[in-house]
Amino acid sequence: MLRSLARSPADALDTARQSSRSNAPVAPLWLARLEAWAAQPRPMHNAVLWLSAYLALAANWPLWIELARIGGAPSVYLRSIGVMALLLMAGTVALLSLIAGARWSKALWFAVVLLAAVVQHYMLAYRIVLDPSMLANASQTDAHEVADLLSGRLLLHVLLVAAPAGWWLWHVRIVRASWWTAIWRQLALCLAALAVAAGGAIATSRDLAPLMRNHVHLRYMLNPLAPLYSGATVALRPLFKRSRRLIPMTGGAALGASYAAQGKPPLFVIVVGETARADHFALNGYARDTTPELAQRQVLSYRNVHSCGTNTLASVPCMFSPLGKVAFEARKDEYENLLDVLQASGLAVLWIENQSGCKDVCNRVPHAFAVDGLAPEVKAALCDGDECLDQALLSGLDARLAALPAERRAKGVVLVMHQMGSHGPAYYKRSAPDSKPFVPECRSNALAECGHAALLNGYDNSIRNTDRVLARTIDWLKANSGTYDTAMLYQSDHGESLGEYGLFLHGLPYGIAPEVQKHVPLVAWFSDGMQKRERLSTQCLQGDLDQPYSHDNLYHTALGVMDVRSPSYKAGLDMFAHCRAAG
Ligand SMILES: [Zn+2]
Repeated sequence: MLRSLARSPADALDTARQSSRSNAPVAPLWLARLEAWAAQPRPMHNAVLWLSAYLALAANWPLWIELARIGGAPSVYLRSIGVMALLLMAGTVALLSLIAGARWSKALWFAVVLLAAVVQHYMLAYRIVLDPSMLANASQTDAHEVADLLSGRLLLHVLLVAAPAGWWLWHVRIVRASWWTAIWRQLALCLAALAVAAGGAIATSRDLAPLMRNHVHLRYMLNPLAPLYSGATVALRPLFKRSRRLIPMTGGAALGASYAAQGKPPLFVIVVGETARADHFALNGYARDTTPELAQRQVLSYRNVHSCGTNTLASVPCMFSPLGKVAFEARKDEYENLLDVLQASGLAVLWIENQSGCKDVCNRVPHAFAVDGLAPEVKAALCDGDECLDQALLSGLDARLAALPAERRAKGVVLVMHQMGSHGPAYYKRSAPDSKPFVPECRSNALAECGHAALLNGYDNSIRNTDRVLARTIDWLKANSGTYDTAMLYQSDHGESLGEYGLFLHGLPYGIAPEVQKHVPLVAWFSDGMQKRERLSTQCLQGDLDQPYSHDNLYHTALGVMDVRSPSYKAGLDMFAHCRAAG
């Protein structure tokens, strides 16, 4: 039990008075008064009101700060803060009253306080909001990524927010009622709170409605209501999903005419990047030399490409889907993807993973983790535990290629490499210690605490590492050009906020996410052999570098590059189709 030895308030005061006379080492009078106040017997609804007020005050600073930022002038934002505080209080009262009758109600209330404290820390440290998509993405991250996000500051913040409430909960005495009276009162309090919330929302809708419509993220800043709502949504979603059907897309998949008389089979590497921003590639005009090696390899860098989502879980399956962003997000069922179609056409397909998983994209095709099968000395050089630099994707690639089924390999090969890229917040871990041209680096996970220059240095070093990995991939393809017609296509899954507008990391809802979270690099490279095979006009390709493209293009572009026929193929979305016709 949290509290079983409650002294009465009078006892506490008496002790304090006596001790002040007897000089015994005991709590000062003010503390005794505070304890006496805390230890007053309270009806349940009184305790719930106090705790709700405390949470509104102590665990919602991101919301109050954001409302002040949006409002601009005190005459505007004080009003919206007042309205939101009322709604937040009413919602929190409804929530806390629901768990008030349980034997462990104080422990449950404290758990809510702890959750609110942790959530507030992340909202303040990274300026994120906990909507269901952010939470789903977070629940799919692995232990390393979680460790990256833990820090001493988190502990300190939790202590600051939760300790006063914990102390109060330890002392407070809830007046017990018979169980049916307790339940009746709980329900009445919950309903009253909901009525206040509804009435308040209606009465203030003239202010509230435009505010919430223009700033959707505000609703995900109501702490602890938003994280609990998002958590429940993510946890319950599978129950209501009633096993989505898998819609086949492989019907009619076949190799095109170019295979009939091919001298060499095609070998195509698709690199799925992570958290890379288009505007931090020197190839796209960034002032720092982040892409020196790609610059020497006649690549095509497309400068106007946008992602499907703002986090990995939203973007990666969407990139490989035949549906495109709009239909993908509205889908009721799952669909077979690009890799299924490539495999069904008879090609050899292999997904090589250097992150936390392929998000179900590679479920039905051969896949492997880059870290598995690394020689011990390579692992020692590239990996920290199971987390490896992206150079691990290239290690042993010849052996991986040779191990693919010979019959399929003779037709053609598609390798997908899923990078660790620029995954934050520990950007400094994404480049080798001896390859950091930009120093000093931010080496803290509390990005807001690092100087802006140090933050950019760490991030830009990670882009330099991606530059090196992509250049090595091209070199490997060149080395295999005697046996294969080769090509590479690199595309990041989403961008990153690096302090602009006070935002960090990524994952904001797409509609309100800043451009830097959505504007992604896309780099293509063709060997001479592949360019001839495809009849691609260099002039045409280079004339397209500023055309608007998106993740919607990957499915059709890859089918086009591999000359795989499918009823799902749309030439209009194939980035290279019109340059092929011109060739
Ligand atoms: Zn990602």
